[in-house]
Amino acid sequence: MLPLLQRYFAQQTLIANLVGERPLPVRLLAVSKTRPANDVVALYKAGQRDFGENYLQEALKKQQLLANFDITWHFIGPIQSNKTRDISRYFSWVHSVDRLKVAVRLDQQRPINLAPLNICLQVNIDEEDTKSGFYLDELSNVIEPILALKNVNLRGLMAIPKAHKSTDEQRDGFKRLAQAQEKINKSFNIQLDTLSMGMSGDLEAAIAEGSTMVRIGTAIFGERVKNTV
Ligand SMILES: *Cc1c(COP(=O)(O)O)cnc(C)c1O
Repeated sequence: MLPLLQRYFAQQTLIANLVGERPLPVRLLAVSKTRPANDVVALYKAGQRDFGENYLQEALKKQQLLANFDITWHFIGPIQSNKTRDISRYFSWVHSVDRLKVAVRLDQQRPINLAPLNICLQVNIDEEDTKSGFYLDELSNVIEPILALKNVNLRGLMAIPKAHKSTDEQRDGFKRLAQAQEKINKSFNIQLDTLSMGMSGDLEAAIAEGSTMVRIGTAIFGERVKNTV
């Protein structure tokens, strides 16, 4: 068997074991940024349907090559305003909405023949200068305007906490994100159902804190190489 598939099945088993008896399933998003289309095809044949990309131009090329496959594409990278039109048109999910203006543009630019775009708000959970995302105390101000948008469907929150070595330390940021989501659900009487949290290095902590979607690159595809399609 291809090493790629061995790693993929090993991640599936790991996630299933971490989820254990928990009622909510955890969706595995395979982060295929910088990986060739062939790798996506190999995972697709093994049953994987959700793929995440960070770089728009690279993603669009891959999507063209894979137009005949029934893939659900997730955009998880930084968003420049002048890229929202293509992102809104060519993806089913956007995890990295970090400004109200971006949500408004994605809404305006979503083609009317498509279902509403699923979005998560990226939260800068550790208030790091190097990361984008809303600060926790900004969130409550943007929920209502975003809920009013008809062509985007607010599904939940996403974060990339500061890197920590131990699972215990890693859990702290995820816990605060989960609590923020609970608070929003109560205050606005809604049911956001997606916590996009956990990557190769911290998925155990993320699942322990209630992640519903983990974004896994390296642990499936191996160490990243340079941008290729
Ligand atoms: C690259 C990336 C991932 C995957 O990271 P790995 O450590 O390779 O699993 C997840 N989320 C985002 C936003 C990323 O940019």
